[in-house]
This record gives sequence, structure tokens and C-alpha cells, in this order.
Amino acid sequence: MGRVEDKVALVTGAGQGIGRATALLLAREGAAVAVTDIDGQAAETVAERIRAGGGRARAWTLDVSVEAEVAAVVAEAGKEFGRLDILVNNAGITGANGTAEETSEADWDRVMATNAKGVFLCTKHAVPLMRRAGGGSIVNLSSVYGIVGSHNVAAYHASKGAIRIMSKTDALAFAEDHIRVNSVHPGFIWTPMLEAGAQVPGVAPEAVHAAMAKLHPLGTLGEPDDVAHGILYLASDEAKFVTGSELVIDGGYTAR
Ligand code: NAP
Repeated sequence: MGRVEDKVALVTGAGQGIGRATALLLAREGAAVAVTDIDGQAAETVAERIRAGGGRARAWTLDVSVEAEVAAVVAEAGKEFGRLDILVNNAGITGANGTAEETSEADWDRVMATNAKGVFLCTKHAVPLMRRAGGGSIVNLSSVYGIVGSHNVAAYHASKGAIRIMSKTDALAFAEDHIRVNSVHPGFIWTPMLEAGAQVPGVAPEAVHAAMAKLHPLGTLGEPDDVAHGILYLASDEAKFVTGSELVIDGGYTAR
């Protein structure tokens, strides 16, 4: 018996990185998975892998910042699998590097639209289905950057802080419906997102990797599965008394 046996999950940004690891793990633990990503082909590849392993999955192209797309895909996933129990709001972008002074209005809007508005829209359209199912679990990907500041990515910090407090507000709003809402706060996880951010002109990628690892007291970067296992816990009934909480998975980054 899997840890999320017979549940139905929808994961956003599931074509690669943490979302992909989460979709694969939820499927391995018995959930049917709606694999969604702005890159529909990447989502399809993940769904095919789940089906090839004997699991249940279907892929959708979904840009979480567009309400019409969110409404349509959530409704279709509900019809395809008959219910919705788990929503993992994982899709996110870092946007351009920069302080508030250096960030353009367009970049600010793009980051907030994907990260903060995306969580809002997917939650808004998933809640009625979860209520009908008698409850559910929403897991929102924030970051250590939603807890502490840095010198860079001002819009990203703002969006991840917004996700942290949205999670608590939604936890209170939907507690009576037995819908739990929690945020997850990863440290630096080696995914395509981090790989892209590690391109420093004139510095070897290995040196950037080592410098990033040193930021974490455990001395390494995280792997997508380190985060996926935390998400699985929050998604499962093992966390039935957990809502409005913050699960920090950061190798000690924020412990100082
Ligand atoms: P990733 O490797 O960049 O994967 C994110 C996925 O989301 C990509 O497939 C991306 O597609 C997709 N996506 C981008 N914009 C989207 C949109 N508007 N609608 C739907 N999908 C969209 O990122 P990751 O590192 O796995 O991160 C996953 C989540 O964890 C993010 O919310 C991130 O902020 C958070 N997080 C990551 C780290 C880390 O160190 N990696 C640390 C803390 C928190 P494209 O590639 O086609 O754009």
C-alpha cells in the first residue's frame, strides 16, 4: 500500500526538477498524477515514464499564470481521475538577477505572475474539487528565500514571501473543509533552475557548485528527491494534523 494510494494529485511545473521528482514519487506511492507544465512535451515525457512503470498519469500543457488555462486543466484533471486530493504548486521562475533598484517592472510582473499569482489561481480552482472530495492537501513551493533575504533576485524573494503567507491564510480559510495548506522551503537544490543560475562568466561551473554547497552547513546542495519526500509527507494522511506550517529542507541554510 503506497503512502498516497488511490489519491489524485496535480503537480505544476512537473516537466523537470523538483516538480518532476515529486510527480514520479507521488505516482510510485500510489497516486494518479496530472502532470502539468508550461512545456507540454516535458510533461508528456514524465507522464509516459509513470505509465511505463505501471502508474496512472496524464499530461497537460499549463501556464499557471493564465486563469482560463488553470480553470480548464483543473476541471479536465478532475474529470479524468474523478476527484482531486493533492495540489502541488511547484511551478516557479527566478527572474533576472537584481536588487529592487535594478529590477524592471516587466520582470517584477513576470515573476509575481508565475510564482504568486500562479499559486493563487491553482488554489482557487482546486479548492471546489477538493471540497467535493471531502478534503485535500495543498503544498506550495516557497524557498529559503521566502524566509530570509539576500542581495539579489528581489522579485523572487517577494514572490516566495507571498507564497509563505498565502499558505497560512489559505490554511485558515479552508481548514473547515479539511483542506490542509502548507509551504515547503528548499535551500539550493541542483535542478535546471539552479544550473541556469550557476552560469558565472569566467568561473568554472564546478567552482560555482562548490561555493553554493558551502552556503549550507551540511556542505552539499540538495537533490530534487530531498524536497519531493517532504512534499510526499505533507500530501499524505501522515500529515493529517499539519496545516499552515513551513517545512524547511535546506541543509541548515537558515539555522544560523
Ligand atoms: P525548474 O528546474 O526551473 O523547473 C520548474 C518548471 O516549471 C519548469 O519545467 C518550467 O518550465 C516550469 N514553469 C515555468 N514557468 C511556468 C508557468 N508559468 N507555468 C507552468 N510551469 C512553468 O525549477 P526547480 O528548481 O525544480 O524549482 C521548482 C520550485 O521550487 C520553484 O517554485 C522554485 O522557486 C522552488 N525552489 C527551487 C529551489 C532550487 O534551488 N532549485 C530552491 C528553493 C525553491 P520551463 O523550463 O519551460 O520554463
